[in-house]
Amino acid sequence: MLKGFSTELQRILVILVVCSVIGFFSDHYALWMLFGCAIYILWMLWQMRRLNQWLVRQESEHPPEASGIWGQIFDNIYQLQRDQRLEKENLQAVIKRIQEISSALKDGLVILDARGHLDFWNPAAHRMLALSTKDQGQSVINFIRHPKFVTYFEEGNYEEPLELPSSRFASKQLQFQITLFGKNERLIVIRDVTQLHNLEKMRQDFIANVSHELRTPLTVINGYVETLVDNNTTPTWIKPLQQMLQQSKRMSLLINDLLVLSKLETTEAGHNHKPINIEQLLAIVKSEAEVLSKEKEQQLTLICNNTTKPLQLPGNEKELHSAFSNLVINAVKYTPNEGRISLLLWQDQKHFYFSVSDNGPGIEAQHIPRLTERFYRVDASRNSSTGGTGLGLAIVKHVLMRHDAELQITSEPGRGSTFTCIFPLPQK
Ligand code: ADP
Repeated sequence: MLKGFSTELQRILVILVVCSVIGFFSDHYALWMLFGCAIYILWMLWQMRRLNQWLVRQESEHPPEASGIWGQIFDNIYQLQRDQRLEKENLQAVIKRIQEISSALKDGLVILDARGHLDFWNPAAHRMLALSTKDQGQSVINFIRHPKFVTYFEEGNYEEPLELPSSRFASKQLQFQITLFGKNERLIVIRDVTQLHNLEKMRQDFIANVSHELRTPLTVINGYVETLVDNNTTPTWIKPLQQMLQQSKRMSLLINDLLVLSKLETTEAGHNHKPINIEQLLAIVKSEAEVLSKEKEQQLTLICNNTTKPLQLPGNEKELHSAFSNLVINAVKYTPNEGRISLLLWQDQKHFYFSVSDNGPGIEAQHIPRLTERFYRVDASRNSSTGGTGLGLAIVKHVLMRHDAELQITSEPGRGSTFTCIFPLPQK
């Protein structure tokens, strides 16, 4: 730039010297100086015109030839344009690549603006939701109208994906996962989970059918073994028959628990929900458990810290009875003779809590996250002596999930355990 500037100064100097010499000898000094300035201004205007023409027409890629400051201005603008062009080409290549990747994806991708309106979607999303170019800018809930999706979308809690039947293809099952990004924009990833869904359905049906088919023969076997136990007089048969009876009863318990679980898995949650008097229900659960706890001379107490009117919780009474009962029976089963078990009911502004605490053997920390898995046992010997099925806590977890509640387990080995059910209070 400095070089161009000094050339320009030299040019001005030459014009001034030439004009002043001619002006000096011709006695028209001022006129020649004015003439010199006019020539320079005209030259400047000409260069500006060339610049403007080059910028407007962009006929040739290269800038017009010029010396001095104008040469440098042309070169700098040319350089800037080249950099910009390169940057644009790079950006276009990146956009093209992203478009190629998103087109190759089997999962549907939909990008929504801050108002939840359609901004971009890939071909897979186009196929899954039947979107077309004229749908750009429309609200996504005009295309995914399922009430569950509308609630999922509006609530804004996108930690878990949502699974729904496809509105376009009746046999397909789609999974929607929303992610927030940028300025409240949203990315929806849509996966076809039909195969997984069918496999899960097959597993559920298989368990339900097998359990159902086994129930009748087992009842018959149970009946005969009971009769044989009652009428047997041969001493060598007493022990084997009693063991047969014990094991067939255990199998019946297992089948019943499997049927309860498969019903919880296969039926829609939220049906038959009606207000339930929780205190009354807990009194029944307690009196049922007392039969067993009295045999073990345990202390079983129920405290309802509910100062206001009796707590009414919307839910399914049969399911809640089964969940609470499983927790209380577990405490009775695993707590040794003369132990203490307390059932506590309380509430705060947002939740209502029911806890079962015992001073039994407790559970080591590494087992706690896995306790609600089917057939998970802390200790096989502990389990076989108590005759459990390993399905009790799985049933509890499912029932709580169906009531939007959660199970919290705290335990200290050697000191006891506390199982707490946390329910959201109904919004007024
Ligand atoms: P189970 O039929 O074996 O009791 P559950 O699913 O109800 O099956 O319980 C899973 C395991 O959790 C049990 O096998 C037992 O080891 C442990 N468990 C459950 N409740 C208690 C408790 N109150 N104290 C100690 N261990 C418990």
